[in-house]
Amino acid sequence: MRILVTGGAGFIGSHLIDRLMADGHDVICLDNFYTGHKRNILKWMDSPFFEFIRHDITEPIRLEVDQIYHLACPASPVHYQYNPVKTVKTSFMGTMNMLGLAKRVKARLLMASTSEIYGDPNIHPQTEEYWGNVNTIGIRSCYDEGKRVAETLCFDYHRQNNVDIRVARIFNTYGPRMLENDGRVVSNFIVQSLRGIPLTVYGDGSQTRSFCYVSDLVEGLMRLMNGEHIGPVNLGNPGEYTILELAQKIQGMVNPDAEIIFKPLPQDDPKQRQPDITRAKTWLGWEPTVPLDEGLKLTIEDFRSRITAH
Ligand code: NAD
Ligand code: UDP
Repeated sequence: MRILVTGGAGFIGSHLIDRLMADGHDVICLDNFYTGHKRNILKWMDSPFFEFIRHDITEPIRLEVDQIYHLACPASPVHYQYNPVKTVKTSFMGTMNMLGLAKRVKARLLMASTSEIYGDPNIHPQTEEYWGNVNTIGIRSCYDEGKRVAETLCFDYHRQNNVDIRVARIFNTYGPRMLENDGRVVSNFIVQSLRGIPLTVYGDGSQTRSFCYVSDLVEGLMRLMNGEHIGPVNLGNPGEYTILELAQKIQGMVNPDAEIIFKPLPQDDPKQRQPDITRAKTWLGWEPTVPLDEGLKLTIEDFRSRITAH
């Protein structure tokens, strides 16, 4: 199959491309290198079955493809808040352009949505039936509301134009290739402990997140794309940890001498988050297989090799 991956030079997108190439597909990677990097796809650049297009999805593009994994969008609060208007544009206009492309060439489109559409959730764990508790005017809104309208667009193109869609609600995912300056919690704590500088816990660290290793996530995305259910489907690891527990775990694994310090909690930071993955289990036969300790070990090794290399 000819498969387009938007955001394919990014963290999740590049791992997905590795799997698609290994499975023998023709892959087109589209990225504007905002948070993605050439080194993530470098190994495929000489392959006749791989093409890279430097393009911004807020502009339309014409391509002939069978499937579209639509991942292009900055995912870390640091990067999506840097230019919030652009973030909304990427989610809204970018998704509309990709749905227009899917409609024209009759391709199936999978949209990478997020647990952030649940906002600061009042129910726990979060099921797909929950409509969310989201601030429309806060500093996270450009991302949260952008993804919510992207989901709306998917379902309206489906109902109105028969576009074949899949919607994945991805929960916090981590692994090798995250940027050193990504700003998300797992990479921050690993980079800080490797550099021997204090680990920055925001607030008192009692807020929770559930962390999924990237290979598990990619498997879930591929099963959703190739299955019969359109979603939305939660994809994440139900293992829930407080942020302080995560800091102590990484401190213990990398550098027990590193200090843990507390910084102000950012506005609208969700207090707790854990996916209910009953749907993914029943519909896709999917559940995560990589425990946090094992995934962290692999991620730490990757950061160690990059940080000591320069
Ligand atoms: P990432 O920042 O590493 O990847 C995003 C990619 O999209 C980058 O390569 C970036 O350059 C590209 N991009 C951004 N704006 C673009 C534009 N306008 N045009 C073309 N390319 C553009 O992030 P990631 O963690 O790999 O996330 C991938 C997708 O998964 C995103 O849509 C994100 O919202 C979603 N997601 C990720 C997580 C997570 O924990 N990693 C959780 C929920 C949802
Ligand atoms: N966080 C933290 N220290 C950091 C980065 C993040 O304590 O250096 C906290 C952040 O406030 C949030 C949690 O870790 O409560 C997860 O943050 P991240 O940005 O990784 O993801 P998101 O909040 O989007 O789930």
